[in-house]
Amino acid sequence: MAIEDQIEQFFAALEINLPDSMKLLLELKDKFGITEYNAEILLESIRAYDAQAEEKRNFVYSRIREILNSCQRCPLCFADCHTQKVPGEGKLNSPLVLIGEGPGLDEDKMGRPFVGRAGQLLTTILEKLGIDRKKIYITNVVKCRPPQNRTPTQREVKACSPNLELELSIISPKVIIALGAVPLNYFKPGSSIMRERGKWVVCGDYWIMPTFHPAYILRQEGKVLTQVKWAVWQDFNNALKKLTELCPDAISKISCDKKE
Ligand code: URA
Repeated sequence: MAIEDQIEQFFAALEINLPDSMKLLLELKDKFGITEYNAEILLESIRAYDAQAEEKRNFVYSRIREILNSCQRCPLCFADCHTQKVPGEGKLNSPLVLIGEGPGLDEDKMGRPFVGRAGQLLTTILEKLGIDRKKIYITNVVKCRPPQNRTPTQREVKACSPNLELELSIISPKVIIALGAVPLNYFKPGSSIMRERGKWVVCGDYWIMPTFHPAYILRQEGKVLTQVKWAVWQDFNNALKKLTELCPDAISKISCDKKE
């Protein structure tokens, strides 16, 4: 019996479904004729910076999208305001992941995260820090637009969580920036973004820096706007500092290319 079937049987006997991430790694192994069964080694094989690793990442990313597109775990995907699912985008080997709340109108239309006004502000913040948004991974807690852009409910967050878990388990980022209360509460339920922004949350292997959502910055004026911008600036800088501590060559991999 093939080892994949033995693994399936083992989990079936325990009445545990094989997590999507493990199924995906087994698919990767098959597709690329890899003889290794160790998940860590399979993950390492897609993190490299060579052409084969890029091909593997493209395969894994297309499967992540397909798995997401078949998701019907909550009613958000049947809502009238919903056009399409919005997967995360960027590099699956990024040591830094940014997580927002959920798609808004523009994201729903384009099928891409953070492309509306808040997204433009986020891109500007990243550019000012010298980070290329195409070289990191940006995603949301929920992948379908909630009606009237309301905050997703706890049930919706829970229902959608396997999609984010799959992305994170494949990427295994070192540092995560949680943009606002929804991603903060995903990792640390019952938290207040007002109290906890700027304070590290360590969750398993992830260092999570909670900060204000860019849409929140856009709603501020005057002195408060200056304070909020300063806070977000500090939080992003602290996140990058931690990233360098944990992974000294990380910044060079996610930096904007220098203009000659
Ligand atoms: N706000 C979010 O939280 N995510 C997006 O993708 C866009 C706006």
